Amino acid sequence: MRRSRFARAVGSSNEAPDRASISEALWFDIRSADSPGDDALSATRVAALDHCAVLLGFTHLVAWIASLVFHRDSATTLAFSNPLVPLSGLLLLDVAAMVGIRCRDGLGLRPHHVVQALCLYFAMAGTLWIFAGSAMAAQSHAGHPSMPILVLGGGVMIAALVAVTSPPLSAVNLVMIAIGAMAMAQSPVAAAGAALLSLMTLAYSIAGARTMIAAGRQRQNLDAEARKALTFVDEFENSGRGWFWETNAEGTLSYVSQQLADDFECDPKALLGRQFTDLLSVETEAERAVEQHKTLGFHLSARFPFADVVVRAASDRDIHWSLSGNPVFDERGRFLGFRGIGTDLTEQRRSEQEISRLARFDSLTGLPNRALMRKTLDEALRNAARRQKGCALFLIDLDRFKNVNDTHGHPVGDALLRQVAERLKSVMGDHGQVGRLGGDEFMAVLPGNVDVGMLESLARTLIEQVSRPYTIEGHRVSIGASVGIAIGDPGRSCADSLVRNSDLALYAAKAAGRGKHCFYEAAMHSEASDRSVLENDLRQAIDRGELHVAYQPIVLAAGEELSGFEALVRWNHPVRGSISPALFIPLAEECGMIGRIGSWVLDTALAEAAQWPDTVRIAVNLSPIQFNDPTIANTVAELLKKNGVRAERLELEITEGVFLAEGDATDETFSRLKEIGVRLALDDFGTGYSSLGYLKKAPFDKIKIDQSFVRGAASVTSRNSAIIRAIVTLADSLKMDTTAEGVETHDDLHLVRELGCSQIQGYIFGRAVDGEAARAMIHEATVDPNGFQCVREARHRLMRRAIALIEGETREVKLRNISAMGALVECTRPVSPDTQITLDIVGVGPVVGTVRWAHKDRFGLQFTEFFPLSRLAPKKQKRNDAMMMRPYYLDQREAG
Ligand code: C2E
Ligand code: CA
Ligand code: CA
Repeated sequence: MRRSRFARAVGSSNEAPDRASISEALWFDIRSADSPGDDALSATRVAALDHCAVLLGFTHLVAWIASLVFHRDSATTLAFSNPLVPLSGLLLLDVAAMVGIRCRDGLGLRPHHVVQALCLYFAMAGTLWIFAGSAMAAQSHAGHPSMPILVLGGGVMIAALVAVTSPPLSAVNLVMIAIGAMAMAQSPVAAAGAALLSLMTLAYSIAGARTMIAAGRQRQNLDAEARKALTFVDEFENSGRGWFWETNAEGTLSYVSQQLADDFECDPKALLGRQFTDLLSVETEAERAVEQHKTLGFHLSARFPFADVVVRAASDRDIHWSLSGNPVFDERGRFLGFRGIGTDLTEQRRSEQEISRLARFDSLTGLPNRALMRKTLDEALRNAARRQKGCALFLIDLDRFKNVNDTHGHPVGDALLRQVAERLKSVMGDHGQVGRLGGDEFMAVLPGNVDVGMLESLARTLIEQVSRPYTIEGHRVSIGASVGIAIGDPGRSCADSLVRNSDLALYAAKAAGRGKHCFYEAAMHSEASDRSVLENDLRQAIDRGELHVAYQPIVLAAGEELSGFEALVRWNHPVRGSISPALFIPLAEECGMIGRIGSWVLDTALAEAAQWPDTVRIAVNLSPIQFNDPTIANTVAELLKKNGVRAERLELEITEGVFLAEGDATDETFSRLKEIGVRLALDDFGTGYSSLGYLKKAPFDKIKIDQSFVRGAASVTSRNSAIIRAIVTLADSLKMDTTAEGVETHDDLHLVRELGCSQIQGYIFGRAVDGEAARAMIHEATVDPNGFQCVREARHRLMRRAIALIEGETREVKLRNISAMGALVECTRPVSPDTQITLDIVGVGPVVGTVRWAHKDRFGLQFTEFFPLSRLAPKKQKRNDAMMMRPYYLDQREAG
């Protein structure tokens, strides 16, 4: 069916008749061909006449020799009565004809020209032959009458024989014989007989030419069709859409395309004769493919047609074909084999695989994506249940990645993610599978690993490696990573809960200051819901007026004059009361509210500062996220203008966090702010990274030495004074101011003054207060230090009655808190500092001390001698009650 359609397609439109017409047969050889096909056909016909001159020449030579032998006496006579003369002429003519035929191509003769020339040759040869015949006949009277008849007859026969292949030659021959017969034959009957015989040869020649021309044309048509078919096959096979195949009855290949051979990297001939089924592979991973292979085997042996059967080639490469085939039978119903087409599915399958790969892998990093990681986790948990082993899950989040994206652009961000993926993979190694969930979140599934020590060290290495600086397109970028870890119990954990737990753990890790790892704990659940409630509340805090700004004085170290205030935001939550900025600022940074809150604080603080004398400065904290916002300089300029505050009065406090997204944008912001004229302070100095390098690069006016160095620096055991000294020296050399933060005691105050800090900020000069109180302070111009002499022992809150002996007078007092060094006492009678007092605590006995400070009905008493707290009723010690200062707000919260 396919074959016949194909045959029709290649077209045998000009179907040739079985015979050519008589006139065509007569003229075909001497007429110029009117089609290339006829031209080719004429050429083959002329080829049949190639040796005619040789044959005739040979005949003429025999006649010449015979003539020489039998008529030797007349050999020297140069006249036509001598047969040797026309015979010699004939021989010359033959040679000329032979040369002509030989060199016809060189002479540019077309086939019909050759036949035309041959006709002339036959005519001339005939004429000469008649002369020769007549001469021989004349001489033959002498002795051998049969001899010339024999030679002449033989010559005529040979000529007729040669001419029979071409009707025009036959016709010329006929004419020559007729003339010859008339000239020589004594009886008209003999002449008529000769002419009749020749006429029959002509008729025979025409009949032969008719079939031959027709057959030639038919063969040409078939050849053309075959060539066309081959071209189609070639074009189809070369188009890459498929190839043909054919087997014989035994199932061995009888046609092999180049494409099929290419799949086996061999020559098509090498595959000929091989069993077709040998080329197909049965080793295949897919059940479906095995099925298909069986189907094909069945169809081949049952001699059934088949279509689109997918099989895998038995080649080293992963090649798949779709095969269709039809059994071929001859007209008697005998099976000849199979013929069909094959299509290469390899590319198609590859693109299918690519699509499925894209669906499972992250295109940026090549790591498994969320969907595949989920599968991996499910599988790991199933395995864990079966093998009674655990399974751990790491959730990894990059810290400050958004900064990089914002400041350097997405291409750098993408390159960074790729490098991060590489590092994660190399750290994770065989421990587990890393994947990317999207954005800057990664996940790792660690099957069978529940050893906490191992997980901990792995998490630490992971964070360390990710936090090493990256160089991307000439930028040096640093980021960090936080890791949340959840461990699944064999058989009991489900993937969802494990993911949620690791998410909570990650959140805790971030809250713990980033760059940390955290294991999941049950308590995190309530914290998480707390956090989302808080986040929601914070969104509305500005609009509801729950935020306000408090101002903490900063004092000049030399004369205790007020230098300015630091604006510190406060949140008064309607239900939870006051919430520390240390808690809600990171939350605001995380949920994208810091920009709004930050601008609001700046605006509020500037509005407040506008009411102060022009000499009093205002310091405002800028989060790194705010700083890296390209519009920050404009915002600052606008707010300064709006509130009418001189730029020199504004000091922006930034931390080293801004340098983590270091780049042109950071430098640009620095210079824009400097252009505006605001002062810049480096906050929390000493807690960050490689601060010294940053200090030299950025145009800071001030360094704020972090509280952790300042507090307790005066204690003999502390080595912080050396650090403070170094910082002050450095700042002096860079012509920068220094502010010691968190100064609480007189000892520390004394020390930082000694060390040369130019400004001081801390509770000793006052906590952050509202605007009104700040204005009152400004009015005073100087601020008096007010605090303990030195760092106190941890205090215990208590409510105890005691009898106090104050300047000889006894009073009932209440103890609010107590430590080994002193106590906070509530007393209705005012006392002045430095008064000696003896306390008689109920159930403990007398303790002596000096009043260090007094305010309203309270005073602080410093014991003269160490007071062992064990003398009080036993009280549960808190784990973290070591030598430390508790932040004010904690005390306040606990008290509330
Ligand atoms: P910071 O910028 O280092 O601010 C100083 C913090 O130390 C303030 O805590 C202040 O009340 C406290 N402090 C000052 N003197 C003493 C002292 O003698 N002893 C002790 N124990 N603490 C002292 P606060 O107000 O809780 O703020 C905490 C942090 O929250 C700030 O640290 C700052 O990083 C951030 N913050 C506060 N307000 C803002 C703001 O408006 N914007 C931004 N971006 N961050 C803010
Ligand atoms: Ca600050
Ligand atoms: Ca600070």
